[in-house]
Amino acid sequence: MTNPLHVIIVGAGLGGLAAAIGITKAGHQVTILEQAAQLGEVGAGIQIPPSSSRVLDQWGLLNKIRTIATLPLDFHLRSKNGEILSTQNIQPFIEEKYGYPYFQVHRAGYHRILTEEAIRLGVTIRLKCVVQDINFTKPSVRVKGDPDYELTSDLIIGADGLRSLCREKFLARPDPPRITRDLAYRSLVKVSDMMSPVLRDLMVKPCTNYWMGANMHAMCYFIERDQICNIVLIIPDDLPPGVNVESASVEEMQAKFDSWDPQLVELLRCVGSTTKWRLQDSVKMERWVHEANKFVLLGDACHATLPYLAQGAAQAVEDGAVLGALFSKVAPSDGRLYMADILRTYEQLRRDRTAKVVQKSADFRVIFHMEDGPLQQERDRALLNDIPSEGF
Ligand code: FAD
Repeated sequence: MTNPLHVIIVGAGLGGLAAAIGITKAGHQVTILEQAAQLGEVGAGIQIPPSSSRVLDQWGLLNKIRTIATLPLDFHLRSKNGEILSTQNIQPFIEEKYGYPYFQVHRAGYHRILTEEAIRLGVTIRLKCVVQDINFTKPSVRVKGDPDYELTSDLIIGADGLRSLCREKFLARPDPPRITRDLAYRSLVKVSDMMSPVLRDLMVKPCTNYWMGANMHAMCYFIERDQICNIVLIIPDDLPPGVNVESASVEEMQAKFDSWDPQLVELLRCVGSTTKWRLQDSVKMERWVHEANKFVLLGDACHATLPYLAQGAAQAVEDGAVLGALFSKVAPSDGRLYMADILRTYEQLRRDRTAKVVQKSADFRVIFHMEDGPLQQERDRALLNDIPSEGF
């Protein structure tokens, strides 16, 4: 008798799915409770750094990712006028240095690959399950229903994202994410709609371009085997209070960048629709594990970050992989015996690394958004010699 653990994961985002795969591979039974009626991901492109590629390779998923990914060749950092300040080779440099590739994909495809793998391994995913409360010592969750019902398990993992109910129940107080004063316009354009000769330079090969200006920056990169261009524009947050995502006016978006690099202006002319996302992060949490050692947090629920290092989902996936790897060190029948040690080790391994990512991402906000002047000129001179490589 292996007598595995039964684990409940709250949230079927990229982090929850990664934890489900890792823990199931370690010999345990996992049920994911997801509030949405349908599985899938909103949003657009996502960058997969080599640290995530390593995990995906260990799970035998790298070739599946390749079928939906773009392998960027170079990153260009540009002034708002389009002048290239520095170029970092990505392919093959990153793979040679870190052993694994840097991919760019559509989030929906990434999410589908992890979902299919979780289901193939036997993970149960229950949709329309809104978790409303948690008993940390039993442990159990109360799920909204008519009437509400309770589900018990050996371990509960809170992977319910930025606006985490699990975090607030754990802290026993409201804990809204931190306002960063930035928002992102996110748009997708088909490469077949980018035929203007002005864009030829951007299209030569699948490169990633960043443009930096005072309090704003823009980026574009390719996904879906170079067939789609993903555009992210960062501006000061002007969303009304209480609204975190909304569809937005393309004309208004274009107007914000109409004095920038003519290539960017032309690229934005190709955009048919766009969405605004308020960007929020979180302050470092000292504890992720409840003292009864039957509950733990993961992903954005405990370390939401600005996206300026493209590391939020990557860190959530790493969290899940680390939990799975730690459980795999003991026989499934010993999972209860060693659970406290495993959760404590997980927290120790992950807390400082993720806090560093959150802090570095905030630092990059300063680098990307400098006002024109001596500091910006110093930054540009420094970039001509050495592009920052944090997050690779
Ligand atoms: P989520 O993806 O938020 O998943 C949480 C899940 O929990 C959701 O499915 C939700 O429905 C469910 N849930 C919530 N509450 C409940 C409840 N009470 N009961 C049941 N289910 C519940 N990261 C990168 O690595 N690379 C990038 O290039 C990148 N680009 C980004 C660009 C932008 C503009 C933004 C805003 C973010 C970007 N990120 C990027 C960050 C990344 O999107 C997040 O860090 C990542 O999605 C977090 O994953 P998660 O699984 O922790 O949470």
